[in-house]
Amino acid sequence: MNTADTLLSEAIITANVSSESLAEALDHADSLAPIRDQFICPVNEDGTRKVYLAGNSLGLPTTATAEYVTNELSRWGSLGVDGHFSPELGWASYHQLLTDQMSMIVGGHPNEVVVMNSLTVNLHLLMVSFYQPTEQRHKILIESHAFPSDHFAVESQIRQRGFRPEDSLVVVEPSGDDALLDPNHILDEIAKHGDELALVLLPGVQYYTGQVLPMVDITRAAHEVGAMVGFDLAHAAGNVLLELHDWGADFAAWCSYKYLNAGPGAVGGCFVHNRHIGDETLPKFLGWWGTNSATRFKMETVFEAIPTVESWQISNAPVLSMASLRASLDAIDSAGGMTPLRAKSELQIRYFDALLDDMVPTKVRCINPTAMQDRGCQFALEIVDPNHDGKSVFDQLEHAGIVCDWRYPNVIRVAPVPLYNSFGDIRQFVTTLRNILQ
Ligand SMILES: *Cc1c(COP(=O)(O)O)cnc(C)c1O
Repeated sequence: MNTADTLLSEAIITANVSSESLAEALDHADSLAPIRDQFICPVNEDGTRKVYLAGNSLGLPTTATAEYVTNELSRWGSLGVDGHFSPELGWASYHQLLTDQMSMIVGGHPNEVVVMNSLTVNLHLLMVSFYQPTEQRHKILIESHAFPSDHFAVESQIRQRGFRPEDSLVVVEPSGDDALLDPNHILDEIAKHGDELALVLLPGVQYYTGQVLPMVDITRAAHEVGAMVGFDLAHAAGNVLLELHDWGADFAAWCSYKYLNAGPGAVGGCFVHNRHIGDETLPKFLGWWGTNSATRFKMETVFEAIPTVESWQISNAPVLSMASLRASLDAIDSAGGMTPLRAKSELQIRYFDALLDDMVPTKVRCINPTAMQDRGCQFALEIVDPNHDGKSVFDQLEHAGIVCDWRYPNVIRVAPVPLYNSFGDIRQFVTTLRNILQ
């Protein structure tokens, strides 16, 4: 155990978790603490930093973000159209500058990962390839609390192929009286629909509860019945450790404005497993950015698929957005990548759990999972104190300079992000919550 783990364990034993000195000691022992200074955080009216715990919704910019973006703006001004093929940072191949770092984050090989488009668009493009319904096999399995955009995308794909959601959409519900999905129930449903199942499309981390689904088991179960499997990693990328290649998922897509801090509406990412990449029988929507770059500008109409996931690219990619993403991926690199960040995140989760237990034991119910392997950094808190309404508690938190988010019907989502949240932030959140609930 390292120093910080020991400090926390001792404080739990001696009932000293709520002390300010513990938060200070944990921050002091945290070798990643200085990374926080690379991020720009909203401030209160008096100039003090807000406690920003909404990275699950929109991550923060780094101090280098403006520099990276401004650099491309000034290169645009100085180079004009020649910027596309300038030897360094040429815009025509700019997306490739992001491939290695992004591959590390999702556990894909570099030929399997590309940044392009945005999340829902990528889900559609990947379903064009990986949802191939037949009379016999036409169902798509999703979860009942799927993010609405995913739900819409799936329904419209089903209709587009001439099927009906009433027949072809399988929706897995949480089993117990809480909002969590029982992984065994998912596996049973996959087996039950068997040779009628064409595609399983599930989140890596569920957006409402923060639940991590067992992607490797789901992949195995889907493949056993002959179905394809894709993951929406919106809340997983940059949050938990991912091994998409080794797990064998067929495809995945994610956005980069949540835990990847690339800014509102930033360019998304996608993964297609090696085994599909050279498969010329897969249907695919084509565009000029998917064809061999050596012949692309000859403007001929013979499509020569790039022999990587880049053959799924359609349009030339948004350079300003990719510049912003580069800045953020560099910050993740400066922390040593996802492994040390997840280690810090787990300690922050334990600390947060201990503080909630200590300061608001009966007034708040965590609807997020409790076992560490089943959760990312996001907490989902339901206010169960009958004297307080959840939404008004949320409003008071905002008023006190805490940024988190409210999700109907009744949940406050709070995400300590190890890149830029301190142990002090977590303590300030729980202390403020306790004061509001008193
Ligand atoms: C954030 C999020 C989206 C948003 O989709 P965009 O296409 O980026 O607007 C979709 N699905 C999930 C699960 C999300 O968490």
